[in-house]
Amino acid sequence: MMFGENFKRKYALSDKGVENTKKGMLWTVIVNLVVMTGTGILYMLTSKFMDTLVNGAGLPNAWFFILLTAAFVVLSLITHVGQYVSTYGLVYGEVKDMRIGLAERLRKLPLGYFGKRDLADLTETIMGDVNRMEHVWSHVMGYLYGSYVSTAIIAVCLFIYDWRLAIACLWGVPVAFGLLFGSRKLAKRNSEISKAAAVTVSDGIQETLENIREIHAINQEEKYLNGLYKKIDDHEATLIQGELATGIFVNAASVIMRLGVATTILVGAKLILSGNIDFMLFFMFLLVITRIYAPFDQSLALIAEVFMSEVSAERLMEIYDTPAAEGSETFAPKGHDITFENVGFAYDDEQVLKGVSFTAKEGEVTALVGPSGSGKSTCARLAARLWDATDGKISVGGVDIASVDPETLLSDYSMVFQDVVLFDDTVMENIRLGRHGATDEEVRKAASAANCDEFVEKLPQGYDTPIGENGAKLSGGERQRISIARALLKNAPIVLLDEATASLDVENETKVQGALSRLLANKTVLVIAHRMRTVEAADKIVVLADGKVAEEGIPAELMNKDGGMFKRMVELQTQGAGWRI
Ligand code: ADP
Repeated sequence: MMFGENFKRKYALSDKGVENTKKGMLWTVIVNLVVMTGTGILYMLTSKFMDTLVNGAGLPNAWFFILLTAAFVVLSLITHVGQYVSTYGLVYGEVKDMRIGLAERLRKLPLGYFGKRDLADLTETIMGDVNRMEHVWSHVMGYLYGSYVSTAIIAVCLFIYDWRLAIACLWGVPVAFGLLFGSRKLAKRNSEISKAAAVTVSDGIQETLENIREIHAINQEEKYLNGLYKKIDDHEATLIQGELATGIFVNAASVIMRLGVATTILVGAKLILSGNIDFMLFFMFLLVITRIYAPFDQSLALIAEVFMSEVSAERLMEIYDTPAAEGSETFAPKGHDITFENVGFAYDDEQVLKGVSFTAKEGEVTALVGPSGSGKSTCARLAARLWDATDGKISVGGVDIASVDPETLLSDYSMVFQDVVLFDDTVMENIRLGRHGATDEEVRKAASAANCDEFVEKLPQGYDTPIGENGAKLSGGERQRISIARALLKNAPIVLLDEATASLDVENETKVQGALSRLLANKTVLVIAHRMRTVEAADKIVVLADGKVAEEGIPAELMNKDGGMFKRMVELQTQGAGWRI
């Protein structure tokens, strides 16, 4: 079926979009046929005059032709309006729905997806690709498919009048389309190249803006800008290259099609001379020929655009094809023990976790230790379903977290990670993010417990001081305390903690520690441990190595295990300068 699933996918259309395309197509057929009727009127008028001239018949009835022409003009106007409304008008709703649908979809995708396609790439899809599809939906689909149908109808009529002249007139059409379809691969390839170049440009602009301070600081403006200019030039070059290639094919196709005029005249002259047809039939073909190529000319350019748009449609559909992280919106676990059972995981091809099993008990601090890259952060991310495990099962209080909607699940988690995200708002509002609707009083209490008072009091407007984009005005330790205050405010039963505090001085570290111990009391705590103190204080240690659990147990036990990995690591690191596992 022409308008089946494949068609929808190919052009990234919704059901409504398909309906609109059909309407646009129907109106285009009507418009093209009405325009052809104009040629019919001209033919009738001319043949009447010829009758008068050659056979001495009376003059044609002027009123009849004036009325006919007026009717034609009115009909033409109405049908053009119908075509306009059914193509351009209907499409705008579709574009809006598409963008909202994409945004909704992106919200539901697992976080891992955003590592594969970065922000610039996704923005390019939501804005650029949807724009391109909009153009194809509004300017192309209806016209193109409508022209196929109307020309087929006209071609059948021409064949009925005289098949020899019809062939002479139309042979170029399949040749021209054949040529264009032959260039399809090339057009798509060019489109892919220029799309990639466009994403590189947005990436470059985003990167430069984000890092403008650092770029200034290291005096590299010129180098950076030159790099950016080069990316923009490259993009332009790929666009020109693409347009040129398409332009050559489209124009060649158009010229080939027009050779039909020459062959019609040649064949027509021969047929008249041999007495096979009369002059008026030949004249009618000449009139038709002036009109018949017009919708095709438009179609040729449009087809090239359709080929190029296939790349955009594929990029759009890729978002829809990615399985969303979905699940039940109720989450009623029995307690909050986190259990990993034979969990396997790979970001790409490389297996990061290979059958990890352990339990982090409620009311205990479980410390994940292991060499850098051993998968500690990955375990923490999986525990919160920021990614889905590829093998095995992770459960909280006996409930498989893969069956719970990520947003619902996360309401039971507080996360204090290394990269604290702060917004360009006041200190108060940044902490309030922990629990929507918390009162000022509650926010202040959490902030005090997180040892924020001391630095906030020094800010010009206290808790109402704006902290600049991503907390630019705050130090590392201060940012971390804000993030702990958020977690305290949320008071979720599970706390995931990455306590990389390398950037903190000793005084700050003690303050952060104090804040932390308040946060962690009676929770299920999974901590990516870096420091001796945390590891010693933990209730349980899980040592990760090579994507597996190498050892687990209470710290004192592991410290006494001769030849144990944990013991060796602790000994090595305490001898070294900084204590890092
Ligand atoms: P750790 O926290 O123990 O240092 P991670 O869990 O961060 O280890 O990383 C484990 C492995 O997974 C590393 O080899 C790292 O390169 C890889 N990795 C981490 N995050 C990603 C990601 N977003 N995409 C691809 N690979 C990743």
